[in-house]
Amino acid sequence: MSIDRFLNGEDVKARPAPITNLMSQKMGIHEWSYRNDPTGDARFKVPWAAAEVALASIKIEVELGFDAATAFKESSRCLNCDVQTVFNRDTCIECDGCVDICPMDSISFVARGDEAELRTRLKAPAENLEQALYVSDELKTGRVMVKDEDVCLHCGLCAERCPTGAWDMQKFLLNTTQAGPRCRDKTNKTANAKEMA
Ligand code: SF4
Ligand code: SF4
Repeated sequence: MSIDRFLNGEDVKARPAPITNLMSQKMGIHEWSYRNDPTGDARFKVPWAAAEVALASIKIEVELGFDAATAFKESSRCLNCDVQTVFNRDTCIECDGCVDICPMDSISFVARGDEAELRTRLKAPAENLEQALYVSDELKTGRVMVKDEDVCLHCGLCAERCPTGAWDMQKFLLNTTQAGPRCRDKTNKTANAKEMA
């Protein structure tokens, strides 16, 4: 059998697409199903066994793990990178309420322009060129909404403030698809298209 084929005969380069999904985290007008308080806590260190104990025997576990209270604090420190700000241009009335409340100056409503020049006109200049900007289609006043994802805390204040629900906080899910057709999720139509063809 050729080495560019899996045992089941599929081409190793034709990887099936992953399953991706976005789901709103809204539970009410001001309530989310995830903890959205930004925290300034530095990472909590996992406690180690004392050096003289750990070095005395190879059987001693060096990392002792968190106790329940520290584990809770560490998990609460999460910045919710899996929860995305999703903007709906059609329901935005350009009240600038989200711009005012954003603690990171991540959102700007500005006239359209070339990316390099646009980056200098935002509420906070977007200097990290490796981070793409999120730019909406043109709004009714001719401006565009620009969001600099590089500084967003995913706190959801913009979505809480918005009077029309134009911002939503949506949890992103990515499931990679197994190479073998028998292991795949049968409900994933994209990944299974080849198999069913
Ligand atoms: S989620 Fe928070 S930090 Fe991000 S744009 Fe909205 S208000 Fe700003
Ligand atoms: S708060 Fe909502 S309606 Fe107002 S500018 Fe922001 S997205 Fe648009």
